[in-house]
Amino acid sequence: MDKKINIMGGGISGLACAIILRKNGYKVNVYEKKNYVGTRFNDDWQGLENWSEKIDVLKQIESYGIDLTFDYEPISELNIHYSGKMKTIKVKNGCYLVRRGSSKGCLDTGLLEQAEKLGVNVHFGSKPGKEVPIKVNATGPKKATAFVKGIKFKTNSESGYHMAFGKEIATGFYSYLLIKNGHGTIATVFNRKLAHDSEEFLRSTVDYFSDFLDRTEVASGKKFGGYGHFEIKKDFHDENGAMLIGEAGGFQDYLWGFGMRYAIQSGNFAARSIIESESYDDLIKGNLIRKMEHSERNRFIFETLAPLAYPCAYYSLAASKNPLKLLNIVYK
Ligand SMILES: Cc1cc2nc3c(=O)[nH]c(=O)nc-3n(C[C@H](O)[C@H](O)[C@H](O)COP(=O)(O)OP(=O)(O)OC[C@H]3O[C@@H](n4cnc5c(N)ncnc54)[C@H](O)[C@@H]3O)c2cc1C
Repeated sequence: MDKKINIMGGGISGLACAIILRKNGYKVNVYEKKNYVGTRFNDDWQGLENWSEKIDVLKQIESYGIDLTFDYEPISELNIHYSGKMKTIKVKNGCYLVRRGSSKGCLDTGLLEQAEKLGVNVHFGSKPGKEVPIKVNATGPKKATAFVKGIKFKTNSESGYHMAFGKEIATGFYSYLLIKNGHGTIATVFNRKLAHDSEEFLRSTVDYFSDFLDRTEVASGKKFGGYGHFEIKKDFHDENGAMLIGEAGGFQDYLWGFGMRYAIQSGNFAARSIIESESYDDLIKGNLIRKMEHSERNRFIFETLAPLAYPCAYYSLAASKNPLKLLNIVYK
């Protein structure tokens, strides 16, 4: 058996796949076109969702053989906002905050350190040529289906987590404010058709959350933008036959734009298909596609029925004794 595997893309999906393969005795090369990991991100907070499956997401990651060599902060209370109303919902470990970027403690650098310690060969500044047979394509989003615009800032404000939807924010989408350990991230999520209004959405978002932040701190923060790719593909391989993982395969939750769990899961499925000679397509179809179809339906409802969907989501979450379970039901 040829035990050498080449992976294109050193994001979280590629590194997760590399760690699992290395632990199972494979020689692994990761080709990353940039000079380091996490360059698409800005040390901003992102949420590792914990509601689309019953198993805790951190336990799930550990069950793949990946150590938690990155900083994470559980969220157990979330303030949800709708049209000026706010309700605090208790969601024990509803989500784990992780930082994304190139500095110490980020998910990206934590996985890189772990991979390199195990002996994975990461080639930076390197796009593999045709002579390198690529087995796994982990090159991130190639098309944009949803956009994010935000500001990352240093802050002395109290820790707190907020999510808002309503007509004051991007239509059909949402905004968030996450403050923890002196790091703040405020951002708004919207679709391609609304991209021309992105500055306005961000301004409205800062106004909306003004009771919970210090505007001077936000004004001296760093602006960032990004995009994500959601797609339910028919074939989970690229034109050269390499398995597509992470956002290169369109894997993510379309309702909220949460892609990290899918990135790590699809990385695990690609590794499993190599190690155990299982069909990658079957693993993906059996484990990810149903959740993605649900998220696509939910997104459609939010975009077309926003005036009804907002209050419906707000009041059901606000009234629920177990919001995590409620969210979990939505993905069944
Ligand atoms: C602003 C923003 C906020 C987000 N917030 C959340 C959130 O709160 N929760 C959540 O779950 N998800 C969130 N996401 C989505 C999440 O970050 C992605 O789904 C996840 O990072 C996808 O991982 P990946 O490995 O597929 O891609 P990436 O992490 O983008 O990695 C792809 C890597 O491949 C490299 N590459 C590309 N082309 C080549 C090539 N030809 N050769 C070699 N290397 C190449 C790139 O340089 C990059 O390092 C957010 C995304 C953005 C942009």
